[in-house]
Order: sequence, then C-alpha cells, then structure tokens
Amino acid sequence: MSIDASRTDRARVRRHPERGSVDRRLVHAILDEGLVAHVGLVADGQPLVIPMSYGRAGDRLILHGAVPSRLMQTLAAGVPACVTVTLLDGLVLARSAFSHSMNYRSVVCFGRARPVEAADAKRRALDTLVEHLVPGRTRDARAPNARELSATAVLDFEIEEASAKVRSGPPRESAEDLPLPVWAGVTTAGT
Ligand SMILES: Cc1cc2nc3c(=O)[nH]c(=O)nc-3n(C[C@H](O)[C@H](O)[C@H](O)COP(=O)(O)OP(=O)(O)OC[C@H]3O[C@@H](n4cnc5c(N)ncnc54)[C@H](O)[C@@H]3O)c2cc1C
Repeated sequence: MSIDASRTDRARVRRHPERGSVDRRLVHAILDEGLVAHVGLVADGQPLVIPMSYGRAGDRLILHGAVPSRLMQTLAAGVPACVTVTLLDGLVLARSAFSHSMNYRSVVCFGRARPVEAADAKRRALDTLVEHLVPGRTRDARAPNARELSATAVLDFEIEEASAKVRSGPPRESAEDLPLPVWAGVTTAGT
C-alpha cells in the first residue's frame, strides 16, 4: 500500500495540481467523514459506477452486499477497482456562468478487493461498517446471526494508491465581471 507516495502516474492530479494531495491523513479524514462511496469497475466490458456504503479499517475499505450481487461477485474476483468518496462543502456562485464551481474534498482510491470469509472476520468487518455510519451503534443494534452473515458478502478493499483533491474559497472571477449586479459567493450545498 502506498497512499503517501503514489507509485504510478494514475493517482496524480493533473488539473489544478495545487488542489491535489497524496497525504494519508487527509485521505483518511475525507474517507472517515464521507458516507457514500462510488465504486467503479469494468464488468463484462461495461464500465460501471455503483454507490455503496463503506467503512474504513486502516488503509482498507470494507464493502458489503448480497451474496448473489453481480457487483460483489465481480469485485470478489479481484478485478482492478476504483473507489471515490466526495464531500460537497459548498456551491461557488460567480457573476459569470463560466466561473461557477463547487467547494469539495474528494478522494480517489485504486485497489482490489478480496472476500472476507471467516465468520469472526466478517463480524468485525460489518461492525466497522456500522460504526462508520453511526459511531457506537454496534453497542445497541443486534449483531448479525448466522443466517444473516451467510447472506452477506463482505469485501476487504485494499487501497493500493489514493489521491485527495480539495477546492475551497470564493469564486475566481475576472476583474471585468466584478461590477456586474449579480450576487456571488459560496452557499451551503443544497440550500
Ligand atoms: C463535487 C465535484 C464536482 C466537480 N465538477 C467537475 C466538473 O464539472 N468538471 C470537471 O472537469 N471537473 C470537475 N471536478 C473535478 C474533477 O473531479 C477532476 O479533478 C477534474 O476533472 C480534473 O481531472 P484531471 O484531468 O486533472 O485528472 P484525471 O486525469 O482525470 O485524473 C488523474 C488522477 O487524479 C486524481 N484525481 C482527479 N480528480 C480527483 C478528485 N476530484 N479527487 C481526488 N483525486 C482526483 C485521481 O487519482 C486520478 O486518477 C469536480 C470535482 C468534485 C469533487
């Protein structure tokens, strides 16, 4: 695993490289704050991006799903995969349509998954996932029974490389747009 220093070019942010980072702490912090991962892979020649929940254990992500799920079976075969997590921090409204943007923190992870088979390891992995969603929840919720465990496929996705990218701050506007009678600034996403 090489989050800190990417071994290959695939994790190098090209547009606005000053917003990019391979710092492990930043990658972890974004992964820990996010709730939805978009998991990308090629299945039967078709690129596919599927939203999923996840949990983080060190430099690994825990994914789960129904045993018959094509996504889970394809990932379990160890195909190369890409997992993205995005935090939307604000909508960046400029006076010109061109300069509109978003403030965000995002992570792109490359790696492969392997199935978690042993019941104890599966339980621990599922606890990680539940604790990621709602810290402390495993103390209250009933733990999965044997039937539930066998109906659930659990995957351990090892992050081989990762990049983070962060945009923050107001719109970047050209001086000639500043006198325009249009409100500009950053609004909270969704409001
Ligand atoms: C919420 C949101 C909205 C965005 N909207 C747009 C948009 O409308 N149009 C647009 O062009 N771009 C948008 N971006 C930025 C986009 O994610 C890419 O960063 C951008 O397209 C530049 O890609 P590139 O050609 O430099 O890198 P690529 O060659 O596509 O990627 C090279 C490598 O850089 C890393 N990387 C690239 N982008 C990110 C990222 N966001 N987070 C972490 N690692 C990354 C990956 O490791 C990737 O493999 C948005 C990002 C976010 C988070």
